[in-house]
Amino acid sequence: MTVKLKKQFYINGEWIDPKKTNDLEVIDPSTEEVCAIISLGSEEDTNLAVDVAKKSFTSWWHTSKEKKLELLNNLLQIYVNRSSEMAEAISLEMGAPKDWSINAQSQSGEDHIKTFIKHFKEFNFDNYLDEEKRNYISKEPIGVCALITPWNWPINQIALKVLPALASGCTMILKPSEIAPLSGMLFTEMIHDAGFPKGVFNLVNGDGPGVGTQLSSHPDIDMVSFTGSTRAGKLITKNAADTIKRVSLELGGKGANIVFADADEKAVKRGVRRVFNNSGQSCNAPTRLLVEKSIYERAVKEAIDVAEKTKVNVANKEGDHIGPVVSKVQYDKIQILINKGIAEGAKLVAGGPNRPMHLNKGYFVRPTVFADVNNNMTIAKEEIFGPVVSIIPFSSEEEAVKISNDTAYGLTNYIQTKDTDKAQRIARQLRSGMVEINGVGFADGSPFGGYKQSGNGREGGKWGLEEFLEVKSISGWK
Ligand code: NAD
Repeated sequence: MTVKLKKQFYINGEWIDPKKTNDLEVIDPSTEEVCAIISLGSEEDTNLAVDVAKKSFTSWWHTSKEKKLELLNNLLQIYVNRSSEMAEAISLEMGAPKDWSINAQSQSGEDHIKTFIKHFKEFNFDNYLDEEKRNYISKEPIGVCALITPWNWPINQIALKVLPALASGCTMILKPSEIAPLSGMLFTEMIHDAGFPKGVFNLVNGDGPGVGTQLSSHPDIDMVSFTGSTRAGKLITKNAADTIKRVSLELGGKGANIVFADADEKAVKRGVRRVFNNSGQSCNAPTRLLVEKSIYERAVKEAIDVAEKTKVNVANKEGDHIGPVVSKVQYDKIQILINKGIAEGAKLVAGGPNRPMHLNKGYFVRPTVFADVNNNMTIAKEEIFGPVVSIIPFSSEEEAVKISNDTAYGLTNYIQTKDTDKAQRIARQLRSGMVEINGVGFADGSPFGGYKQSGNGREGGKWGLEEFLEVKSISGWK
């Protein structure tokens, strides 16, 4: 395989060399081979990018909505034309299987561009609070933003930040995950070709201790929008405190999927598949499967069935299968947690440690199911971020709510029952930013974000735009 050389950064409308050489190999997780080389930025690269973003801010803020919409529509067109390249980049950098990469990963970028264009068109930036008192409210861009993103849904998360930041009139520096930087660099080419003014959007590659930390403590950055681990979210918040930045966080999750005896017959299988999708690397995965005791044995059998039928294979194979997890670090972490599940007394009923038999290299994990888990076990507490389901029995509605809320996280919970009153009653008690009932998907532009240690931000639609805006109250307007 040819190794892609992607060592430049995009600053002030052009691709430029880093100030210092600091190469990083990007690994294809399906083969463990080097697929690209990028540069990790230095403080000088970060400072240059922040400086140009700062200088470009005022003119981008005052650029008309019509012009911004024209550029965003250009971007949409270019994205649609190059979406198969995007899918290939994501398959290579993080192991998403071909079909999944086209239909879910790359598609999410296009969907977000379309949705933000719609919400931006409808969004009212200026209006009266009280016309008689002449009190006017103006919503204005917060300024220069650092956008720091992870590897698991790379373009999804980049689009959820870049689009509203552009639409609201902010300028920005994107630092994609250094583990999966190729999709972000391709997206940067698209932004360039769409014709956005120089300096509005900049990209600097780097890692957390380097560019990530430089951005989150930089005095000229007004806001950090971060998606990633709760661990890094805490560090960023502390780093940003000295300069009182706005910090918007989308962090981990440990979702409960409450399956009652009266759930529809596909509920258990649907939930287990949701965990295995993307090889378990989704912050909103319903990893704790809570099952009412009267249907427990059947549910365990169904979960085993899904695990045994889930195929695992390399990313560039067509068809319905899951790929590897992203890296050796992630593979090792998952192995430790699976072994901990066994050691702490959970019943391993499918999958387990090590690779699937038919694969002798690549970071592949066996689709794994633990039964008889209790909520105090490590596998019920920690985000595993691999294809691992933990089944926990419950006896009553109260107990199900208690177990669901007994976690440091609060991103998405799931309810399966045909009793609408019960579903709504429980949905109101769950401490999470999102609750999905009976597998009904969220509408485009629905707010995405968490309670507690799952973060404090809301991305998507008009909530996503609000994140990047300040609110100015002006009296005596007329
Ligand atoms: P990570 O936190 O290690 O890295 C995410 C990004 O932050 C990367 O770009 C990384 O370089 C950067 N980073 C790391 N340490 C930093 C620091 N100290 N300062 C500044 N930047 C730093 O996470 P990851 O392993 O790439 O991603 C997986 C995590 O992301 C999971 O925990 C997952 O649940 C979470 N996630 C959350 C959401 C959500 O919306 N809630 C969505 C996707 C992923």
